[in-house]
Amino acid sequence: MAKLIHLLIALPLLLAPPAVGQDLFGSFQDMLDQLAPSAKPPPKSVPRAETAPVPRPRPVEPTADDVTEDAATPLPRPRPKETADEAEAETTPNTAPTATTPAPASDDVEPAAQDDRVYQTACPAVIMGLVEAEALPPLSEGACGERSPLKVTAVLSRGRMVPLSTPITTNCAMASALPGWIATVDGYAEAMLGSPLAQVETGTSYMCRKRNNADAGFTSEHGFANAVDVTGFTLEDGKTIDVTANWKPAAKPEGRLLRLAHDAACAGFTTTLGPEANAEHHDHLHVDLGCHGKTCTAQLCE
Ligand SMILES: [Zn+2]
Repeated sequence: MAKLIHLLIALPLLLAPPAVGQDLFGSFQDMLDQLAPSAKPPPKSVPRAETAPVPRPRPVEPTADDVTEDAATPLPRPRPKETADEAEAETTPNTAPTATTPAPASDDVEPAAQDDRVYQTACPAVIMGLVEAEALPPLSEGACGERSPLKVTAVLSRGRMVPLSTPITTNCAMASALPGWIATVDGYAEAMLGSPLAQVETGTSYMCRKRNNADAGFTSEHGFANAVDVTGFTLEDGKTIDVTANWKPAAKPEGRLLRLAHDAACAGFTTTLGPEANAEHHDHLHVDLGCHGKTCTAQLCE
């Protein structure tokens, strides 16, 4: 009875055109072999026939989303191997290149994934608690920019955090140099004026512009988040010492403090510009870590 049914199924296949009929008949023969309990091992074409529907989803793999899914789920992993086996078995030249695409496709997707990744660096000053800061996304506008900018809100000085009046956007080098300088000024303030620092009055930090706000010329270190302007210091007794108001007279304690602050900056930064440098700096102390000289060790102190 079962054989009769098989023959009935086989009949239309035999009548079909040769190209299609051969394939279908092959599948049918495989099915018969499977159904008949015989010692003959199943031919190689059986697993191929069973796995035939699997390659269907393959064309979708090269997309970025699927690659992500691949990473999350181990299931699709064996697929390229199956494909490689099938590619070897199949003699049709047209299917071979498409069948072997998955491996190169995953390589092609990798650069895109790398482009999406934002590569930034950690800052020791933040890790060691020398500054209160948070990492910001990379800055990039024309010649300006910084890959790992920080938003610094306070600096460590003699065992406590001294806040900045306005958070500054700066690089790690500046974040590392500021605490030492502020600690020195803090000590001067307490020694000369009897009150330590309560706050650093901060001005411009990151800003994409030319030096001295000129229309042309070199890009300011402010454009690389490598410069900070300080307009003064507020003491714990509430007194604010302001560069504009207190730079002169130099003989007064407030004027002395600002000049000592200026000179102390000359030790720890490569550029220190105060009111005596030029008119642009009449109201603040500019400090930066720009590179002067062939080895970046020359210092400009005006
Ligand atoms: Zn400046």
